[in-house]
Amino acid sequence: MGKILAIANQKGGVGKTTTSVSLSACLAYIGQKVLMVDIDPQGNATSGAGIDKADVEQCIYDVLVDDVEASAVILETKVENLYAIPATIQLAGAEIELVPTISREVRLKRALEEVQSEYDYIVIDCPPSLGLLTLNALTAADAVLIPVQCEYYALEGLSQLLNTVRLVQKHLNHELKIEGVLLTMLDARTNLGLQVIEEVKKYFQDKVYQTIIPRNVRLSEAPSHGEPIIIYDPKSRGAEVYLELAKEVVSHG
Ligand code: ADP
Ligand code: MG
Repeated sequence: MGKILAIANQKGGVGKTTTSVSLSACLAYIGQKVLMVDIDPQGNATSGAGIDKADVEQCIYDVLVDDVEASAVILETKVENLYAIPATIQLAGAEIELVPTISREVRLKRALEEVQSEYDYIVIDCPPSLGLLTLNALTAADAVLIPVQCEYYALEGLSQLLNTVRLVQKHLNHELKIEGVLLTMLDARTNLGLQVIEEVKKYFQDKVYQTIIPRNVRLSEAPSHGEPIIIYDPKSRGAEVYLELAKEVVSHG
């Protein structure tokens, strides 16, 4: 059975989407069969994986709201072994449309159960909120990976996220684990970054990944080319570190 990882943090701009796309592509690159699921209405992971949203006929919205089977909306990507369920702006309505529906928090879980055995990893890119879409991801997931930006107030908002994780563990998904905290966008030229690393390690201890993602301009360029970093610039530092992260994720079993 594939391991389902939710990439979550309700703060925007912390590297969720970059991590979802780069980690998924690097896992695929080292031979894992990966399904990346975009559940952010902005659809940045979708385009980052090289899928043109204008060509998408059915997306995760149809799965969550209209009970379309996951297998019907899975697309191939340019990366061998990497498949994706896209999101389009249509998904913006789902958060409200799902409210009155039965078992609204378990819809993604039910949908992914149908395809889980075909993949080694399923990586879910969450939106920047703790709403119903993120709840669906946490309910479906085996584990949550939390990107934390090496910036002032890095820990701000994390207690709210951890509280949500605890509530999901209690009521919706007893098996949910915290896979790890990933430090992102480190600027090695400043002391601030190092202070944040200390602070986050003090708080999360061995939950912090050894791999730390530095700021790397190639990572910020890759999405506009519709290519994951491992294709866009495989020799870049960004590709190297996400490859390291992929190996670390696999080593966690
Ligand atoms: P989120 O999904 O949490 O909102 P993103 O992954 O979209 O965050 O990242 C926010 C912005 O920062 C994007 O423009 C992205 O290209 C850029 N970015 C993310 N990680 C890095 C990095 N390690 N180095 C440089 N830019 C990055
Ligand atoms: Mg994002």
